[in-house]
Amino acid sequence: MKLTMHCTGTCKQLESLSMRGGKWKSIAFPGLFAMIEHPSEGLILFDTGYSPRFAEATRRLPYALYRWTTPVDTEGYLSAAEHVKAAGYVPEDVTSVIISHFHGDHICGLGDFPNAKLICSKAGYESVAALKGLAAVKRAVLPDLIPPDFEARASWVEQCPEADLPAVCRPFERGRDLFGDGSVTAVDLSGHAAHQIGVFLRGTDGTPVLLGADASWSAQAVRENRLPSPPAFILFDGRRDYKRTFGNLVELQRRQPGMRLLFTHCAEAWELCGKEGIELP
Ligand SMILES: [Zn+2]
Repeated sequence: MKLTMHCTGTCKQLESLSMRGGKWKSIAFPGLFAMIEHPSEGLILFDTGYSPRFAEATRRLPYALYRWTTPVDTEGYLSAAEHVKAAGYVPEDVTSVIISHFHGDHICGLGDFPNAKLICSKAGYESVAALKGLAAVKRAVLPDLIPPDFEARASWVEQCPEADLPAVCRPFERGRDLFGDGSVTAVDLSGHAAHQIGVFLRGTDGTPVLLGADASWSAQAVRENRLPSPPAFILFDGRRDYKRTFGNLVELQRRQPGMRLLFTHCAEAWELCGKEGIELP
């Protein structure tokens, strides 16, 4: 199994917002997604990042508010479908897309993989499926990015078998075994978005790798136990859940300093997995 992470564009945000004690300076955060080349399941994506669809979906008000409050730059970056081609595949080769949550910067590419099963939390989907207009923008949801045949292609995490995680994943104890072989186990990372999920990938030497989506903006924030600034919590679905999830990640990293926690907007994750990627058993 091989894991690589790819950048589809950047978004601008105050560093101080993403991490307490950060600079009051707007910095560019990468918008990553992950490609998992799985020995029996084929090509799996974890989220799909930005694509030209983002500009289309935010052309009109009120959806343009998303673009104005979080400026996005996709110039010079490939979309997920283009990254798939650059890796020697065609978009039809993608067998599954795991969706961490439904924020616009994670699902722009959903419409580009016609054969993919769309794996997500049913509760997470139901919390956004009916949102339109301002109510959608407030939750960073752009309805045009959800393909019309979504429900027909969806596979719900809640229906996957429960599985015990190895002791190295404490305080995370149980998850959902997505492919029935223990290679990819989904865990609840609620808070940033309601019912957001992350996945533990079985690692070499017994230490899994965590794809943590937006549970933190960076690995540094988790290592140094620095929550986002209070104003950032306005953007989250659940303040208390965010703090609980973040606390669990801090505890995980404290117990396993060598474990790689890879977040969607973290430059370190891109550096670590951007080129060669990581070989997993
Ligand atoms: Zn998000």
